[in-house]
Amino acid sequence: MQAKDAFYIGGAWVPATGRAPIPVIDPSTEEQVSSVPAGIEEDVDSAVAAARAAFEPWASRTPADRAALLAAAADALEARTDEIALTISTEMGTPLSFSKAVQVGNPVRVLRSYVDLLSRYAFEEEIGNSLVVKEPIGIVGAITPWNYPLHQVVAKVAAALAAGCTVVLKPSEVAPLSAFALAEVFDEVGLPAGVFNLVTGVGSVVGAALSEHPDIDMVSFTGSTLAGKKVMAAGAETVKKVSLELGGKSAFIVLDDADLGKAVKVGLGNCFINAGQTCTAWTRMLVPAGRYDEALDLIRDAAAKYPVGAPTDEGTRIGPLANANQYKKVVGFIEQAVADGATLVVGGPERPEGLGRGFYVKPTVLGGVTPGSRVEQEEVFGPVLAVIPYETEDEAVAIANGTPYGLSGGVFGGDQDRAVAVARRMRTGMVDVNGGRFNPLAPFGGYKQSGNGRELGVYGLEEFLEVKSLQL
Ligand code: NAD
Repeated sequence: MQAKDAFYIGGAWVPATGRAPIPVIDPSTEEQVSSVPAGIEEDVDSAVAAARAAFEPWASRTPADRAALLAAAADALEARTDEIALTISTEMGTPLSFSKAVQVGNPVRVLRSYVDLLSRYAFEEEIGNSLVVKEPIGIVGAITPWNYPLHQVVAKVAAALAAGCTVVLKPSEVAPLSAFALAEVFDEVGLPAGVFNLVTGVGSVVGAALSEHPDIDMVSFTGSTLAGKKVMAAGAETVKKVSLELGGKSAFIVLDDADLGKAVKVGLGNCFINAGQTCTAWTRMLVPAGRYDEALDLIRDAAAKYPVGAPTDEGTRIGPLANANQYKKVVGFIEQAVADGATLVVGGPERPEGLGRGFYVKPTVLGGVTPGSRVEQEEVFGPVLAVIPYETEDEAVAIANGTPYGLSGGVFGGDQDRAVAVARRMRTGMVDVNGGRFNPLAPFGGYKQSGNGRELGVYGLEEFLEVKSLQL
């Protein structure tokens, strides 16, 4: 893949002269496949100035005008599905079929959802003698991670542009290439210069510069809780709005009246999707103590249906982890969990057979995990499931709620009303009941240290709107 040597600023590709390249590594081979420039503060300043200059004209366009450009971008992105999916599989390792359906399919769906929303969203309402108008918040700095590299970008950019904001994007330095494709798409469909700008680089330089920048009105951040705290602290100086989508340690509560076979299948699928590198992954499966052994047997059988292999191999369900750091971290978590007394039900820290290079980890299930232990409390971000037995429903809810996170969760049971009642007790932003499927229009975000913002659908749009009341 060709090395990238320019930023997209003010509607033009600006050569990144003198900027050190950041290598992009294929995690299935550990070899460099491309590079992107490492931006510095001056690059951020130029991009912010371009976004500021473009703001008023863009904000004053009609919603229908903005929708037409988003619709054209969705079509242009969809037309490049195969190529962009291969790029994403190459830079971060997801199986190719998953990259097509989810890594590119979701961003196309999300763009179209905002086209639809703009046709009916009421940007004004009357309350007594007041006219309440919802206006774009201004210049948005968007900072994104590598696990769903294009989806995380589009979840922010589509909503921000729909709202009438202009954007400076800093994608993850681990998987930055699809963001270049998005910039090309916006350029091709005629998005006005400066409405979308792209500056690549590392978080501590480009991300920090965006978070501190006095002319940025809002930072929308998706990534780790650690980095999110830094962004929030940096944004405090200029009292900018900081919307955070952070990590998780989500629980899947299997109730005692559940069809255990179905529950295990759904739970494992959720935990192992994208090799466990999903912020909402249910990494803790809570099982009634009386059915614990039965559950482990079912888990052993179900886990055998997750072949590990190269992203381009057709049968692969689990590709390599995205980078070397992630590989070391996940293997370390498995070793530590075993040292802390957990048992290996499936998998383990060794490399999967026949895969001598690449950041591959065996899908791993840990039994007898104690609430409060490290692997029970901290985000692993790999294909690692902790199974925890519980005695009562109250205890299950307490364990589920007993981490600093509050992103997602699941409940599975024979009685839908009872399962919904348990879901209501979970202190998380999202809960799927009996396998309820992902809804791209539903608010997406977390409680507690999983963040404070919501993305997607109407809630995602409103993150980027200020509210003004005119008394008449
Ligand atoms: P990360 O926090 O290391 O990096 C995310 C982004 O922040 C990158 O672009 C990075 O360069 C930037 N960054 C790092 N330090 C920064 C700083 N000091 N200031 C500004 N920017 C900085 O996360 P990651 O490893 O890329 O992604 C994995 C994490 O993202 C996991 O914790 C996962 O749970 C989380 N995540 C959350 C959601 C969600 O919606 N809640 C979705 C996907 C991923």
